[in-house]
Amino acid sequence: MSVYCKYCGESASNERVLLNRWCPKHPSGQNKGKHALYEGGEKSEYVCVYCGEKYHSLRSLCNGWCNRHPNGQKRGKHSPAR
Ligand SMILES: [Zn+2]
Ligand SMILES: [Zn+2]
Repeated sequence: MSVYCKYCGESASNERVLLNRWCPKHPSGQNKGKHALYEGGEKSEYVCVYCGEKYHSLRSLCNGWCNRHPNGQKRGKHSPAR
């Protein structure tokens, strides 16, 4: 089973490997921090916690600008709900 980063949707074979890599979409800036574990696991559908948009992959969810981001409209990317 794969594990996923909740910021960028990157997958890794296990949590230790994932958390050791730099995240290109870390909230503090590109590669300013490591990936963070998405605790929802593998799903057929992922929902944005802010706007409710649905995506079939975590990576495409994390790539889309969110209309209801707390920092303002399209000031940040979608974030997956558990
Ligand atoms: Zn990441
Ligand atoms: Zn959203």
